[in-house]
Amino acid sequence: METVIAFIEEFIAQEYKASVALTTEPDLHLLETDIEILNQFFQGLDSGLNISSSRTLEEQDRVIRQLQPRVLFQIKQYAHSTLGTIYRVYLSSTFREDRDYFTNFYIANTGKGLKIVARYHICNTCNGKGKSADIICDECHGFGWKWRGGQQLNILGTLVTVRKFEPPIDGQHLQEYESV
Ligand SMILES: [Zn+2]
Repeated sequence: METVIAFIEEFIAQEYKASVALTTEPDLHLLETDIEILNQFFQGLDSGLNISSSRTLEEQDRVIRQLQPRVLFQIKQYAHSTLGTIYRVYLSSTFREDRDYFTNFYIANTGKGLKIVARYHICNTCNGKGKSADIICDECHGFGWKWRGGQQLNILGTLVTVRKFEPPIDGQHLQEYESV
């Protein structure tokens, strides 16, 4: 668990650096290096940060006011039937002031060490609950999260342990946070 925490903290810092650089770094090679380093945290998907061909530079102060390093809420460890140990990391978005669940990254031990192997985003329809008015959510089929790249992990296996860092603000997210 400790190595996963260090891995995700390093990822969060690198993602923030690359996100700011995306619209503020005048040196294209430095920006490409930042994104390359970021993409090395992934396997089977990438960071989703792409350099636009019509990139225009923005004022750094303005960009910093819009972005934040993602908030880390909790990490759940599961025993997955084929992947072995997997870690489900609950993060906010990178938009400043966001203190709610937004992204789940799944981290696994691969031949190249720890890698993010899947990304899910919270289902907007049911806000992560998997159902609304006791009816299974059509949008996410009851999972509460929607697949956004990498492996599709429909069955997570047995929950082994949870490490908590910070509670989310949203009432429904908080309820989930406090339920495990
Ligand atoms: Zn849903």
